[in-house]
Amino acid sequence: MNRREFLFASAVAAAGLTGSAVPALAKQGRRRDKLGIALVGLGYYSTDLLAPALQLTKNCYLAGIVTGTPAKISKWQMKYSIPDKNVYSYSNFDDIANNPEIDIVYVVMPPSLHRDFAVRAANAGKHVFCEKPMAMTVGECESMIAAAAANKVRLAIGYRCQHDPNIQAYQAISRDRKFGAPVLLSSVAGFYDPRSNNWRQVQALGGGSVRDMGIYAIQAARMATGEEPVSVLAQASTTRPAIYKDVDETMQFLLEFPSGARASCMSSFGVEMNYLNVNYERGWLRMNPHSQYNGNKGDMSDGKVIDFFIANQQAKQMDDDCAAIMSRGKFIAPGEEGLRDIRVVEAVYRSAATRGLVTI
Ligand code: NAD
Repeated sequence: MNRREFLFASAVAAAGLTGSAVPALAKQGRRRDKLGIALVGLGYYSTDLLAPALQLTKNCYLAGIVTGTPAKISKWQMKYSIPDKNVYSYSNFDDIANNPEIDIVYVVMPPSLHRDFAVRAANAGKHVFCEKPMAMTVGECESMIAAAAANKVRLAIGYRCQHDPNIQAYQAISRDRKFGAPVLLSSVAGFYDPRSNNWRQVQALGGGSVRDMGIYAIQAARMATGEEPVSVLAQASTTRPAIYKDVDETMQFLLEFPSGARASCMSSFGVEMNYLNVNYERGWLRMNPHSQYNGNKGDMSDGKVIDFFIANQQAKQMDDDCAAIMSRGKFIAPGEEGLRDIRVVEAVYRSAATRGLVTI
């Protein structure tokens, strides 16, 4: 076993996946020991987080780009040594089907475009990673899952937090009932967005604080209870009505879980906030922050802390997901997990629109 194979096998073992990935690669007749990823959409998240993380990954590398902005191409090609044959526009994107160097298409665009590009990628025979929020509606999520199944490719959501050992630790505390059952939760995620011309402020492009940040508040409540909410009561508000005409700047929503646990949640583009408080039957846990790129940490009523080191969340997320593809293991956050959150997002928006309780 050479060093790369050793590192890869170690990553698979660390991810708790069964079977050796290296033989699985051999079975697939591959010569490379890393999967090639093409990023679709070269905006902030691809530029500042994913491409740099792909310089640290063991199981995958940045093989290609798909962009609607030709001016970006030469800069990306030079910086990351991307050959001409691995550069696509939105219109010739489907030709990616004929490119054996691209194993995975990672959709990193405004949410309104996730479904179309994910389905096109699956139809091209490529595995799909898709950024959060998975799509605009439950129906869109279902069509993405169906397209992946029909083409026998895999679909994972870019839920970096679920790969963070600090988040996994609080999931385990609830699952193992360390302090008994969770009863009352407070879960918030937001940042102050000074922009006034971003897709996040346009409903048709998938804007709104719930889709962008509320997804983290929802996830934290779902992960801390280990349950799916059964009802939601939501109210939208804004302090900048001139900018937030089309979407919610801030949303407060109450989730009720089957066990009776309740989560008071908030998302916002007007407030810097990121914490999760869980009150259990016999104790409490606080994560502050709970869904940042790094530094997520917490403390508990027994005096213990949650503060694991993670070098790079996005690199770990992509390595974990590629290990799962290569070993035919399970994803931590498959398409079905993205759909669960969108089901709640839809209910939050329905409740805010009707000013009433919505049953999920
Ligand atoms: P961005 O606006 O910086 O980039 C979006 C990209 O899509 C740009 O390259 C833009 O040119 C392209 N695009 C194509 N068609 C477009 C259109 N009609 N309108 C606007 N842009 C268009 O956005 P971003 O912050 O990089 O977010 C992209 C995705 O990544 C979103 O789904 C977002 O939620 C997600 N994201 C995830 C995280 C995370 O922590 N997981 C963080 C930031 C963003």
